[in-house]
Amino acid sequence: MKNEHSEKILEEVMALKSSVEPKVAQKLDLDKWERVLIRLDSFSPDCKECSTLLIAYNDHIHQLKEKGQSLESSDFIKHRHTMENFISHLQKEHKLVTEGTNQSIYMSLGLSLGVVFGLLFLDNLALGISFGFSIGIAIGIGLDVDAKKKGRTI
Ligand SMILES: [Zn+2]
Repeated sequence: MKNEHSEKILEEVMALKSSVEPKVAQKLDLDKWERVLIRLDSFSPDCKECSTLLIAYNDHIHQLKEKGQSLESSDFIKHRHTMENFISHLQKEHKLVTEGTNQSIYMSLGLSLGVVFGLLFLDNLALGISFGFSIGIAIGIGLDVDAKKKGRTI
């Protein structure tokens, strides 16, 4: 960790992880949440917004910890929302991707192209769809693997 402060926050995340049920930890996506922290920490010396987000991250984790076992569905929704905000900054400003993002983008792109292709050229919608779908997934997975290799996956 670059920031001394982040070490403490990471400890809080770990503590939260071990204090809640595995199911809850999964629902909160704490593994991803932890990776978000590591990214924010690494960009914070050069990015003002990341430093600001680190402070918000700290507050947020405290709130979650305080609620502990009594988290309600509204808390989960709020958490998701907070996480999305953080991730969208990392995606827009730091060109990071979340795992499977390319896969789902290219899958739906392949699907729509497959429909067009199937109707116009093959005269077989099902064939066009399965063709577009497979190619889309293949490209998406390839790009996800590439992003991971380059260390751009959150
Ligand atoms: Zn940033």
